[in-house]
Amino acid sequence: MKFCNLASGSKGNCSVVFTDSVTVMIDDGLNIRALSERARLANLDLSKINAIIVTHEHSDHVKGIASLAKKYSIPVYCHPQSRSGMEAEVSPYYVEQDMDAPFEIGDLLITPFRLPHDSNYNLGYKLSDAKHTVTVATDLGSVNENILQRFVGSDLVMLESNHDVDMLRQGNYPFALKQRILGKNGHLSNDDCAATISQLCKRGTKRFILAHLSQDNNTPELAFNSTAKMLENQSLIEGFDAFVDIAYQHKSTKKLTLE
Ligand SMILES: [Zn+2]
Ligand SMILES: [Zn+2]
Repeated sequence: MKFCNLASGSKGNCSVVFTDSVTVMIDDGLNIRALSERARLANLDLSKINAIIVTHEHSDHVKGIASLAKKYSIPVYCHPQSRSGMEAEVSPYYVEQDMDAPFEIGDLLITPFRLPHDSNYNLGYKLSDAKHTVTVATDLGSVNENILQRFVGSDLVMLESNHDVDMLRQGNYPFALKQRILGKNGHLSNDDCAATISQLCKRGTKRFILAHLSQDNNTPELAFNSTAKMLENQSLIEGFDAFVDIAYQHKSTKKLTLE
């Protein structure tokens, strides 16, 4: 299994999972031009995508989907409550599928699970082939034990590390927006992400990607250092016990091969 994030953040999100038999995209919040450029650099043939699965209807996750699905006739899997909130209609590419239960696309078993976020509905996804498991969770205000359990058993976890709480509190955002982001249905802070990652590391996950970093209320260094420090507090070493990468807004991650 291989995994690549093409873009991450409030201006557009897109990730791709590759197995021996299928290529599945998670969200597409990029316009077709930006997506085509990132795909070219990542050696991804967009015409080979077997399915697009949608986390939630916020435009940074879905705005490219209608045109991409139409251009390459790609099936789209989306929770009906998220679909009803999408601006561009995805039919006839929409697949009727129970999105509250596991389903298969080729050799990939996909297990959706609900995340707390201020959208109509928001899903994280655990994706497994015969050998490996990747779990993707962005746009979540909080993590509880129930959600943590969903990640256990993953080789790679991509988790939101959205903001530094002090930067957000002291920054220029309107009060209501700050409250929204900090709320239980908002976005995950660096500290909450770091605490989750150190828990997961103790339970066996070794690779992590910090995602959906705010460009106004975070820096890659702050996000990385929060996680590295939290791991260290638990006597775990980044680069040995855990390997932490960052997903960026304006460039793709390298294509990670899970072995
Ligand atoms: Zn988002
Ligand atoms: Zn969102």
